Formats: sequence, C-alpha cells, structure tokens
Amino acid sequence: MKIAETVTFGGSGLDRAAHLRGQAAVIAQQADAQIVLLWRGKPMVQDGALVRVAPGHAVLDDASADMIFLGCEDGPVFAADLSAWTPQGDAVESLNSFLDASLQEHPAVAGAQFVELRAIMTQLSPRDAEIAATARAVFGWHGSHRFCALCGHESRMAMGGWQRDCPDCGGHHFPRTDPVVIMLITHGNAVLLGRSPGWPEGMYSLLAGFVEPGETIEAAVRREVFEEAGITVGDVRYLASQPWPFPASLMFGCAGAATSTKITIDPAEIEDAVWVTREEVAQIFANQHPKILPARKGAIAHFLLKNWLADRFD
Ligand SMILES: [Zn+2]
Repeated sequence: MKIAETVTFGGSGLDRAAHLRGQAAVIAQQADAQIVLLWRGKPMVQDGALVRVAPGHAVLDDASADMIFLGCEDGPVFAADLSAWTPQGDAVESLNSFLDASLQEHPAVAGAQFVELRAIMTQLSPRDAEIAATARAVFGWHGSHRFCALCGHESRMAMGGWQRDCPDCGGHHFPRTDPVVIMLITHGNAVLLGRSPGWPEGMYSLLAGFVEPGETIEAAVRREVFEEAGITVGDVRYLASQPWPFPASLMFGCAGAATSTKITIDPAEIEDAVWVTREEVAQIFANQHPKILPARKGAIAHFLLKNWLADRFD
C-alpha cells in the first residue's frame, strides 16, 4: 500500500542513532539536548506540539534519573519520566477510563499539559507522534519489566533505555513489541465489523488479535476471524503497520477475503459482529448511520476503512 506510512504513528524517519546509545548519559548533558516529558504515559503538550526542555530545566527536578535516548534531530533528543510526581488536585480519577480526558499541569512549565496520547495523536506532527509513541512504549516496558526474567533480581536500565541489564546473572533484556493483526475482511461489497464488550455504545471496528508464537501474520488473521466471528478467510494481504504503544503493540493491517458469510460470534471475545456495506461505511463516516459510530480517528482501523472506501489499497 503506497500510502501505508501516512497512518498516525507511521513514522517520521527519526534518526535513532543507535550507535550513540552507549554514551547516552554523557550526551544528555549537552547544551543542545532536548528533553520531552511524560507523566504516566502522557506526553506534555503545548499548542499541539510536544514540549521540549533543555538539560537543567526546573521540571526535571521531578523526573526519574534514567532518561531514554530517542535519537538525534538538530541535537540529541531524550524523554524524561515524571510519573513519580503527584499533580495538585484530583484530576487523576479518569486515568483508567476508556479515554482519559483529564489534563495535568506542572508548575514549572506554564501553559503546558500532560495529555492522553490517543486524545492528541492526530494533532501532533509525524515527528512528535513518533517520539511520543516511542517514549511511551519504552517507558511502559521498563515499568513492567523491572526484574530479570532469568533470575528474578532487579535489573537496571542501560544503553539509553534500550536495554536492561541484570547485575546478578548478567542477563540482558530488550524492549519488546507485540504483533497484532487487524483485518479488513470483505465479502463482495461488504466489510466485517465487530465490537468488544465495554466499548462506548455504537462503536464498531475491524477485528483484531495477537499473533501467537509460531504463527504467520496470514494465519493469525484467519484464526482470529474464525475464532471471533466464525467466518472463514482465504487470501490475506498485508497493507500497512502502525506502532500502537497502548501499551506495546505493533498493528499489522491486512485485507482478507471471506469465503463464508454466516456470523457466529464468540461471546467471550466480542459482543457483536456485522457485515456492513460500502454505502453504510460512507454513512458511518458521515455520522449518519443509525446504529454504528466510526472507528477512532488516528487508529489504523479508521485508516484502513477510509482507504478501502476510497479504493486506495494499491
Ligand atoms: Zn538475572
């Protein structure tokens, strides 16, 4: 798919400068270093752009010592984690809701706010989106991988955040990303949509699921669609991918041709699945469908459906 990389989080060609990761602690002190800020996975944003501060800025007094070296723009770019800081007030209650709408302000950076990444992902520049997604994913991995998977000893961040080393057994561990297939399954003029329990009323999207060990992307598409909706799938074609750091997925967007049409849902996995015609999908995007709301803008499901409608899968 020619326009694959125009998807949100599709990448901006950031120079990740992996050869400098071993010196990250030194170059973090360079005067031209820029540091983006995250609080519990939420980037600090002002006027639709990531806030970048210089080394020594007062806000960094509340950051953990370990920063992630993200790469080089004009100078080196780092991400600092302020998760241990407690904002004033009680604006944290919606953190675990479907979409956290709360905003947090740090007194050292006037006018800027920590914002849920999914709420602003379509407003950020491709560069800022790549930086925010990468920082969120890597900090998330550190947060859930504090202990060595080989011996259980507490491990330490190394290589600018791209590794954890175990001081006890010498093991090295690297940030992981989980492959997920998300598939636009068609039969003639219709596409298969489904919804999970707990989603906002009316929200439908493409079916998706984790790729299992020992499985190809194509096999995962066929298995997930059959498990969730009882539909058999023939040809499968890769279209586009999207890093999805909520917390650590890489979405593989695929097209698949259904070879059956009778839907039998697995209620343990999804709440409903329906065939929707091309005309209805146009209605959904125009917010004129009586029952179905569009997939979230910025998510690859939205991207695939829009481009299917526009016949741009070449
Ligand atoms: Zn160990």
